[in-house]
Amino acid sequence: MARATKEKKKRGFLLPRRRHKYIFVIGGVMSGVGKGITTSSIGTLLEARGIHVNIVKVDPYLNVDAGTMNPTEHGEVFVLKSGLECDQDLGNYERFLNRDLNPEDSITSGMVYQYVLRKERSLGYGGKCVEAIPHVQDEIIRRFTAAAAANHSDVSVIEIGGTVGDFQNALFIEAARVMHMHAPDDVLFIMVSYLPVPDKLGEMKTKPTQNAVRALNAYGVQPNVIIARSDKPLDEKRKEKIALFCNVAPEAVISAPDVESIYDVPLNFAKDGLDALLLKLLTFTGKPLSRPGLTAWKEFVRKSKETRRTVDIAIVGKYFDTGDFILSDAYLSVIEAIKFSSYAQGLKPKIHWLNAKDFEKDRVPLASLDQYDGIIVPGGFGETGIEGKIKVIGYAREHTIPYFGLCYGMQLMLVEFARNVLSLPHAHTTEISPGTPNPVIDVMPDQVKKIANARMGGTMRLGHYAANLKKGTIAQKAYGANSVDERHRHRYEVNPKYTKRFEEAGVVFSGVSPDGILMEIAELPESAHPFMLGTQFHPELQARPLRPHPLFTAFIRAAANRDAAKR
Ligand code: GLN
Repeated sequence: MARATKEKKKRGFLLPRRRHKYIFVIGGVMSGVGKGITTSSIGTLLEARGIHVNIVKVDPYLNVDAGTMNPTEHGEVFVLKSGLECDQDLGNYERFLNRDLNPEDSITSGMVYQYVLRKERSLGYGGKCVEAIPHVQDEIIRRFTAAAAANHSDVSVIEIGGTVGDFQNALFIEAARVMHMHAPDDVLFIMVSYLPVPDKLGEMKTKPTQNAVRALNAYGVQPNVIIARSDKPLDEKRKEKIALFCNVAPEAVISAPDVESIYDVPLNFAKDGLDALLLKLLTFTGKPLSRPGLTAWKEFVRKSKETRRTVDIAIVGKYFDTGDFILSDAYLSVIEAIKFSSYAQGLKPKIHWLNAKDFEKDRVPLASLDQYDGIIVPGGFGETGIEGKIKVIGYAREHTIPYFGLCYGMQLMLVEFARNVLSLPHAHTTEISPGTPNPVIDVMPDQVKKIANARMGGTMRLGHYAANLKKGTIAQKAYGANSVDERHRHRYEVNPKYTKRFEEAGVVFSGVSPDGILMEIAELPESAHPFMLGTQFHPELQARPLRPHPLFTAFIRAAANRDAAKR
């Protein structure tokens, strides 16, 4: 306790009460309007005022975690340091808070029900009839408070997935209502709503928001703040209308028009005084700090907007045949990592999506790859488009186009090398070809049983592991360190039986697990190729606006050099 008080004093912000505060963020009208970015931005703003925030995502689906979902269903699967596979929003939270999240910060209905049902099976409810209310609701509240405790935070910002009126998030809203009932001064509700501007009318309509607030009122919850998302800024007239009909103060209706970059949002909210408003509503008094966090953030945003040279980066993906699914969602962290490392070097990245299958079927000539400054093969699973990816990698190797392979991208880089340099034409990963005569990528021994028993959820090699770096290599120079800690998500690895042959033919394993068994980074020496490097881990998961990832930075530098050479 004494330490916590000292800490808070050091941060210059004295909390009037020791009571923890909760801000619930709930969506109105429809999904996909930026609830996650709003939540993240509130985190950035409060942290910048010297308040320690944790952000929690509630995903109302029944999957226990996001790991078993196809990215086309759900977007990227983000992996926390602990190894928990979760929603991509947690990636945004980490990027906006500039720190690692805890596993308690992700809550799904699956986790909640799994816990309750297991407890019931072991007589944990002492013979009671187990019901959604109160037992499931209690478990939800327990998880909200556990997340706050695990983070030692002052404020929890909790984003409830889905939209008000959904069946599946109702219990979470009910849990929040009960928390508010017990401590009305310590619990706030923010509704992120959407105001359409129908083409034919050319006028912004507030009615859907009014209805969404009424739907929330039906749960017994009144929002304290409404974030009004729209194409355009909110005018005074509509602000007053929303205030009047939704029962909130006009200054608590915050205009949130579309912006050029998601990283503008915290700055726009600060301009509108959202941080001061939240502090007032949460009854924080005392002298707020200056905003140390926002200085660096502003500098990052300023740099991201400087006029600059373009680098053309191609990402070879496979999630194309999926209707309206937005491809960028499947590779969100990769895209953000490219941006951070480009902005830091005064470059503007242009991302080109290449469909691996186009190269497989020769629908697109390989020579078209010459127009790009760098190529990435990101993480993936399964057979689709794999031969196309291998062809692209071979072309990048032979034509010295900077190449960065992320997990599957490293495995396939070695398959290509084995086939075309080691002259093992049937070399493969056993994920695709279990009977290959040359299994250069093979299943990790501890995975065999799990796969045989279909124990697939949360059983990959997940989360952070250390790797030692080999001196003088591209990776070691980029990191400027002798060892690193990176996040993983895979079942297959470089087959130790082949490492020697790879090395003899010029591959350098520049990152190796501390026990020397697992090859975590593979690269070709600079004398052979300007940048041909793959990682068994996912470096993109640790790239942050205020801390670009060193390997992405090195890759983008190589890409920019190629661009310069082309000119
Ligand atoms: N499918 C590969 C494996 O399981 C690669 C996984 C990935 O790219 N994340 O090892």
